[in-house]
Order: sequence, then structure tokens, then C-alpha cells
Amino acid sequence: MDDVSLLKLGLTKDEKKTFEKKKVELSKRVGSLLKASRADSKNAECFICGKECSSFCNSHSVPQFCLQNISVSGKLYHSGNLVDIPMLDKDKGIGEADTFRIICRDCDSSVFSDYENPEAYCQVPSDKMLAQIAMKNYLKSISKRQLEIQLYRNMAKEFGEHEMMIHMEGIGSTDLREYIDEFKYAKKACQSKWDNNYYLSYFESIPYVVPIAFQNDIALVSDIEGSTINNIYNHLSDYVIKSVHICVFPLANHSVVMMFCRYGENRYSKFFKQFKKLSSEEKLKVINYIIFSYSEDYYFYKGIDQEIFGNESLKDVVKTTSVSVGDNPFADSLTAAKETYDLNKRDTIPNFLSETYKVNIKSDIISDPNQSDFGGQNHIS
Ligand SMILES: [Zn+2]
Repeated sequence: MDDVSLLKLGLTKDEKKTFEKKKVELSKRVGSLLKASRADSKNAECFICGKECSSFCNSHSVPQFCLQNISVSGKLYHSGNLVDIPMLDKDKGIGEADTFRIICRDCDSSVFSDYENPEAYCQVPSDKMLAQIAMKNYLKSISKRQLEIQLYRNMAKEFGEHEMMIHMEGIGSTDLREYIDEFKYAKKACQSKWDNNYYLSYFESIPYVVPIAFQNDIALVSDIEGSTINNIYNHLSDYVIKSVHICVFPLANHSVVMMFCRYGENRYSKFFKQFKKLSSEEKLKVINYIIFSYSEDYYFYKGIDQEIFGNESLKDVVKTTSVSVGDNPFADSLTAAKETYDLNKRDTIPNFLSETYKVNIKSDIISDPNQSDFGGQNHIS
């Protein structure tokens, strides 16, 4: 087991020094590669309606009305505040948060209207709402993968063909096919008159506003007892990675947390059973741990006590990636991943879904405590 470990995001102190020296040159190179890749990966048609489109909508994955509830003067914190990635801005405006551009304006404003309505969360969400959420998640993933694939191609052109690049492009293409299949299923479900397309395993309405917003699909590696759910290192074409959708929506006076997957998806049934047996508090801890260990697409309340960004175990957990770095090709990456993503480590990080961290919206809007003293300071380094 010692010969394999999972790559952590961020930079060490030495790497940071080297980076600072080469920052301008590197930023320019990466920036122009990204820009070119973005242009090259641009589609000609809207991904939903298929109509020709020249100016795509800047679509949000997490609904804007949720982001508004945790922003201060239109700003939020994101994962970059916890990971030392020097090129990321330290806070984001709502307009820049978690966006993708592959659908037209008409589709963006009409297709998701059921789930993008704050009033809808006074009750358990409908199957149609879940289908819309799933569709949005896959659109974002499709857009990300399209860009990555193009980026690998352009990097290969710029730096020479490299085995790693070809490998990454191959994985990206397999992922892309799976996302497109899931997108098609969700699109069909949105128009379906039946309400058995998705299985809502967990829905909780909590009576306070949580300081994080999240919406994404996640491929869990293992369940609470350590059994495998997805072997994320199996790249054989007939092995399909199955994900679960998780949402944390801060609303005006309460929050909702939910978890669902495609109806009839057996790979998660054991995990769902184990999860159901947990107390309400433990359930929230598990969701909280999944979000921070598996994803980078979460948003933080801008008025949060910034000391939390210095929490070492939190910083360590959020840097987790599934990129396996083994000395030999037969290294057991899956066992290493299971250890890294072990849900029983959920007590090692702060549970942002607990009442302790709740947002006190009214007083913050009036006093806006971070407005004057934050001003771009970096509390991480
Ligand atoms: Zn469209």
C-alpha cells in the first residue's frame, strides 16, 4: 500500500516559490491555452434544443436564488479559498460562480423553471424537479469534459505528444459519452408524464440557512461500511460509473438538502440503507464530508468566519483528488481511494450543515462585517 497515494491539490511551499518566480510567464501560457481550448470546444448548437446558437447563455448550476442567500454585496467564497491554487481569484461574484456555456437563453430560462423556484421547496421535490437538476448537472459535466478534452489536445500540440495526455484524453472521452447518455435520460424524464424516473433517497428541510450552496453529481467510491460502489479506476468501456446527485440549497429562511439517483440504480442501494439508519445529525455530516472530499464546486457564505479556512484537517480533506500516483502500474489505487474517501472520517472536519455555522442573514446584510476589513486579503498562506 505504500507505493500508491492520491494526488493532493494545491502547492507545497517550495513549489509556491518556484511558481511565484515563473508566475507571469506560466499564467500567460496557461491562459492562452485555455482561451484557445475554450474557443475550439465551442459548440455550434444549443445542447438542449439543438438550434443553431452563436451566443450561449452563462448558465449557473447552483440556482442563483440560493447563491444570493449566502452572498454579501454579490460576492461568495469558493473552494479556491481553501486550496492554494495561486491563479484562482479569492472570491467570486455570483455571475461567475460555477457557470457553463453550452445552452441557449431560451432553454436556460424555460427548461429548469420548476426546480429554480424557491417556492417549490416547501414540500418534497417532484420527479420533474429532480430530472431538471440531473440534466443541469450533466450539462455542466459535459461542458467541463469538452473543454478538458480540447485542452489535452492543445497541450499535446504545444508540449509534444505525451502518453499521459493521450491517456487523459481517452478517459475524458469515455466520461463524456456516459454524461451524454445520462443527459439524454434526464431530458426525457423532464418531459415524461410518469414520476418514476429518479429515486429520492434523502430529503431534509432544515430550519436555518446553511453557509454553503452545492449542486452536483458525485461518483462515490465506497459506502459507509467500506464496500465498493464505483471502481473509478476501471476504464474498460463496458464499466459505467454511476453517480448520485447531491444538493444543498440555502433558501431565505431555511435550507434543503437532498440526495437522489436514477430509479432502479442498484449500485447505491446498500449505501442508501446504511445512510437511512443514521441519525439526522450524522446524515448531515456524511453529506458534508462527501461534498468537501469529492468536489470543488461548493460555495461559501461570504460572511463566514474566515478562521475556518485555516482549519488544517479541512484544508487537507478539500485537497483530495482521485488522481492516483503509483510507483508501479499495478498499485492498488482503489484501496487507497477508499481509505482517502472513508466516510467514517466525517468527524474530522467542521460540519457546515449544523446549526453552529448557520447564516444570520438579516444582521449581516445590515452590518456586512467583512466589507471593510477583508479587501482581498488572503488568509490561507
Ligand atoms: Zn436551446
